[in-house]
Amino acid sequence: MKIEEHVNLQPLNTLAVPASARFFARATSEQELRQALRWAQKHERAVAILGGGSNCLLPEKILGLVVQPALRGIKVIEEGDRYTIVRAAAGENWHRFVLWTLSQSLCGIENLALIPGSVGAAPIQNIGAYGVELKDVFLALRAVNRKTLEIVEFNAAACEFGYRESVFKNRLRDQYVIVSVDFRLRRSPEFRVDYPALKAALAGISRSRLTAEVIAHTVATIRREKLPDPSVLPNCGSFFKNPVVANGVVNELKGLYPDIVYFPAGEGYSKIAAGWLIEKSGWKGKQAFDARVHDKQALVLTNPLHKSAKNVIKLAGAIQSSIRQRYGIELEVEPQWLGA
Ligand SMILES: Cc1cc2nc3c(=O)[nH]c(=O)nc-3n(C[C@H](O)[C@H](O)[C@H](O)COP(=O)(O)OP(=O)(O)OC[C@H]3O[C@@H](n4cnc5c(N)ncnc54)[C@H](O)[C@@H]3O)c2cc1C
Repeated sequence: MKIEEHVNLQPLNTLAVPASARFFARATSEQELRQALRWAQKHERAVAILGGGSNCLLPEKILGLVVQPALRGIKVIEEGDRYTIVRAAAGENWHRFVLWTLSQSLCGIENLALIPGSVGAAPIQNIGAYGVELKDVFLALRAVNRKTLEIVEFNAAACEFGYRESVFKNRLRDQYVIVSVDFRLRRSPEFRVDYPALKAALAGISRSRLTAEVIAHTVATIRREKLPDPSVLPNCGSFFKNPVVANGVVNELKGLYPDIVYFPAGEGYSKIAAGWLIEKSGWKGKQAFDARVHDKQALVLTNPLHKSAKNVIKLAGAIQSSIRQRYGIELEVEPQWLGA
């Protein structure tokens, strides 16, 4: 395992912010990962974990060691009548993993097609799209404790998954590096196609002709139409989480804004579409601080001039304060700062 110095991280984050790592290591095995963590302990450097760089904000300089888990491999670890258990290594590309499951006629993650990033980062925020979340197919994960270097196994309950949340963003933040994830995938075709945009796009196809491939392809088509390709227009997907509010608040807002978009979010709560709030506040397509609100999806902030993350954060701050003023709702930023 090689420790590189002064590594340019601009090509390694989808927001394309200029950033560099004082030290950088790509770990292709658990042994290399432990070596990198041990090196940081010995040299008293903080560690930051970078996957595909599609959901993080990088400061201009990271003075510690940036470790990129690059462990590869997908294998079936158990075959049952109804389910197949598959283990995927953290460094596998998420979308390529989705394609692999389709090639094996396994169902469960077709709605999550084309989400950028790595398998190892998927549990961190319990990735979700089009009515499905990682937790719906998650069985367990293995992670290295950053202090003791021991491997620890987490089941679903231990991960404390929530909407774009897990224990790894909260109580156990910066304490583990995920090395593999186990998925429980269905062998029978049972699909979730009730999410409004997906349902509308599949309207012409009869239920009997639905396959996981058709759903993944449809999801990919919707995503390509709506979301900017980071290699063309740098971005990190949704910049804000959809705010979850008590139903009474939604009812109040519905009286004022009958076209408000919201979804049920558990007993007594609703999730308001943050994109709707931002669009209705006049931000869609607006540029400020050299960053821009995407013209097809107001939830996405782009960095067309490849400027610092500070610029995007300033635009985000202006949006947050205007939503607070107008609706009394607090928008929470989704991508996390990486630093060491
Ligand atoms: C165009 C676009 C569309 C997107 N659409 C969606 C969507 O529909 N749904 C959704 O949920 N997300 C979406 N995202 C966000 C992003 O793709 C996911 O959150 C993805 O899981 C991030 O993976 P990554 O490898 O790029 O993580 P990074 O951005 O590299 O890291 C994210 C966080 O996870 C930590 N981390 C990464 N790998 C590990 C590991 N192995 N062990 C421990 N910690 C780790 C990092 O330290 C960081 O805190 C989108 C992003 C883009 C650019």
